[in-house]
Amino acid sequence: MKKLRCHSCGIELPKGSLKYILEIRSFADFDGYLEEYDGDIEEGINDLLDAMESTDPKAIEDDVSKEQIFILCKSCRDKFINDPFQSGKAEVDGDEVKGTIH
Ligand SMILES: [Zn+2]
Repeated sequence: MKKLRCHSCGIELPKGSLKYILEIRSFADFDGYLEEYDGDIEEGINDLLDAMESTDPKAIEDDVSKEQIFILCKSCRDKFINDPFQSGKAEVDGDEVKGTIH
């Protein structure tokens, strides 16, 4: 069996050791604002459809929503939870930044 390693620091995580699963789900937010479209809307939609046809459906899907799973050791998990992007900033209030989250 392949040995498990922490995705962050690379430390080996032997069977039975304490490890954490980190699931990240990122998805495109929509704040209800649409930029005014300059030009023929029908033409614009056709251009968009053409562009989508020549793009890998998986890439479009990834643009909208993506889920990733990582395995972390306790120390990396604690570090991540306290400051996910190592920015030194406090987390934002989700209700303030989310647009039309259902
Ligand atoms: Zn680690």
